[in-house]
Amino acid sequence: MDADRSTIWPYDANGEPGDFFYARYAHPTGAAAEAKLGALDGGDALLYASGMGAETTTILAFAQPGTKIALAQGAYFGTSVLLHDLARWGVTFVEYDQTGPPPADADIVWVESPANPLLTVPDWDALRAHPGLVVCDATVSTPVYLKALDEGADVVVYSATKFLTGSHNALLGATVTRDPVKTAALRELRTHAGIVASAQSSASLIDGLDSLEERMRAITVSATELAQRLEAHPAVTTVRYPGFSGLISFDVADPRIVETKTQTILNATSLGGVRSTMESRHRWEGDRIPVGLLRLSVGLEPVDELWADLEQALAPT
Ligand code: PLP
Repeated sequence: MDADRSTIWPYDANGEPGDFFYARYAHPTGAAAEAKLGALDGGDALLYASGMGAETTTILAFAQPGTKIALAQGAYFGTSVLLHDLARWGVTFVEYDQTGPPPADADIVWVESPANPLLTVPDWDALRAHPGLVVCDATVSTPVYLKALDEGADVVVYSATKFLTGSHNALLGATVTRDPVKTAALRELRTHAGIVASAQSSASLIDGLDSLEERMRAITVSATELAQRLEAHPAVTTVRYPGFSGLISFDVADPRIVETKTQTILNATSLGGVRSTMESRHRWEGDRIPVGLLRLSVGLEPVDELWADLEQALAPT
């Protein structure tokens, strides 16, 4: 869709601002995209300049010096990097195994379902029993496979750069909340800090959400098939696949050789696009993850074409 790229809208005849007056506060394309995403999750969505913008706003809105955050082990690498940075402001974090209960003394529990790239899922019973603020990064599930607010999350975070927009053409983040006080806190911090989404990226979200369900179902069918074939392949040692969505991580002896041999599958970072991507994550994450781990984000190419590409890349040289 076309985006209204204005940054200002005139006041009314009485000199009063309407819903839109300056784009850092709100803009029509952003508001329309937020309404559409919020309806999918059953809450109030807010958009940000990136997934990390959504994460930063969430932490700054709800943490203060002394706040302890329990972060799911093996969750998106950038979240742990951000939390390391914020240690200077007195926000501390520990990593924990999200398949079990979080540390009892955590003020904020940050889970990711499923975690990128280790693909574990959180224990929602344990999270519901925890008194802290529960934040769930549902980037890989999308609302098609997880309604995190219904499970008990207080804040859902998305990198909408991935499946929600789906075309590797928009950098965008989102939060979804149900409690008006929390939504207002996020909105205020977003406006004050200026961590706002562009009109163009918001328009990409509106377009992406039109096909989200269809894309996610088709991607899941292909990814399920590829995970099974990878399991049976002699060059592959471990395959992680949660049974839904498009992310598979699997281990091989030399991931650099495999990733540089694929042709249909782009050797690129990121995930969630209709074009499949694959990369060795060790280059970014170091020893936090297995040295041989390849992260494959399955797109919408025919599954046999993707398998043929993987097979030739996995063949001995
Ligand atoms: N959360 C997850 C699960 C991610 O995979 C990413 C990026 O890879 C982010 C958050 C950060 O999103 P962005 O790159 O849009 O800032």
